[in-house]
Amino acid sequence: MTQTSSILDANAFTGTSVDGSLVRRRERALGPAYRLFYREPVELVRGSGVHVYDADGREYLDAYNNVACVGHAHPRVVEAVARQVGRITTHTRYLDASLVGYAERLLATFPAALDRVMLTCTGSEANDLALRLAFAATGGTGVIVTEEAYHGNTALVTGTSPSLGAGAAPGEHVWTVPAPDPVRRPGTPAEVAARFTAAVATALEEMAAAGVRPAALLVDTILSSDGVHAHPGGPGGLLAGAVSAVRRAGGVLVADEVQPGFARTGEHVWGFERHGLVPEIATLGKPMGGGLPIAAVVAQEAVLAPFAGTTPYFNTFGGTHVSIAAATAVLDVIEAEGLQRRAADVGAVLAEALRDVAARHPVAADVRGAGLYLGVELVAEPGSTEPGGALAADVVNGMRARGVLTSVCGRFGNTLKVRPPLVFGLRDVERYCTQLDGVLTDLGW
Ligand code: PMP
Repeated sequence: MTQTSSILDANAFTGTSVDGSLVRRRERALGPAYRLFYREPVELVRGSGVHVYDADGREYLDAYNNVACVGHAHPRVVEAVARQVGRITTHTRYLDASLVGYAERLLATFPAALDRVMLTCTGSEANDLALRLAFAATGGTGVIVTEEAYHGNTALVTGTSPSLGAGAAPGEHVWTVPAPDPVRRPGTPAEVAARFTAAVATALEEMAAAGVRPAALLVDTILSSDGVHAHPGGPGGLLAGAVSAVRRAGGVLVADEVQPGFARTGEHVWGFERHGLVPEIATLGKPMGGGLPIAAVVAQEAVLAPFAGTTPYFNTFGGTHVSIAAATAVLDVIEAEGLQRRAADVGAVLAEALRDVAARHPVAADVRGAGLYLGVELVAEPGSTEPGGALAADVVNGMRARGVLTSVCGRFGNTLKVRPPLVFGLRDVERYCTQLDGVLTDLGW
């Protein structure tokens, strides 16, 4: 089975750049660590709602970008940011009623036990801080993550992001467990959950044998980079047994909400709610500021206290007036436009339409997800369990040629990631599915 070398390499531009082109200039200026999407990279210069436009004025349907969760260039976000940047923007060492008001409003969307919020700029910083809280609260250092997890790019969380590939050193006290694999290891939800629990129990035993105390199970509650696995919640859900085992061993649950959070999964605001769990710590990011860099750690007071009692925290750009203005506008729009309901309703139609496409093209072996976060897993040929990584790359590039932006995820880079702005509508569903149907037909499937 082919495995992509890293999540960033999946669907990356690998062509030869032409002298003097923007791609070549970019390579020269930024160096080789960056990756571009698509065989023919796209230069986006403008966006509006679910549409983005390239430098030649060509329009694309955006089925990928979750940061612009309320749509690209939403007037309410634009206006809030412009107004605030023209007034003042400073940091959290001054009193700021807008920051406190936002924190209170954000906390009101969480179960009461999660009662403190700390602001960062990125999801990476949020996970880094979350792990530091977990270390201080538990006295442990062991962390369990899924095999294809991505939690960010600081030194600490790079070690918890095996999806970065072999070049990114795994953390010394990091153990990995396999995510569900409905195509190669099918089972009832109870069987899949039992396997996950058993893998976490084994990791805890190995930790104990190595003399490492557990600190946290750090998990993206929709398992995005593992290929989008939105298993049913409730007491028998995917994570419940694993979380109990971690807690019994002295660790905590850190729910990475950077991708599923802010209403994307439709039924709930936060992904952990689908699992019927209350984490000790949750981390937020990406959509939080609708494009501005703002992220957060939400924690239970008792879990925060051991860290906060000894270590002051300051983050120059975490929670500036401008990013708070953007984040406030994002919550306003989610509420005013009913985007949680819309994610549930449009997401259900999209899932159904994708299943229709899959019925016509059985290389699409599985359609799964929740709300407006769906994965379509491709296999090499109908009936096979061989991952269709090369096919997925062809599909993504074919979609780009047809004016639809989408991407891939999963261990083999073979799952289409359908994660549009939450203002995605029924016409957009139709356009996405028509083009997917067309690409699969063009490719001979
Ligand atoms: N956690 C998850 C689940 C993510 O997907 C990402 C970003 N892809 C991060 C954390 C890190 O966020 P950032 O890029 O803002 O540092």
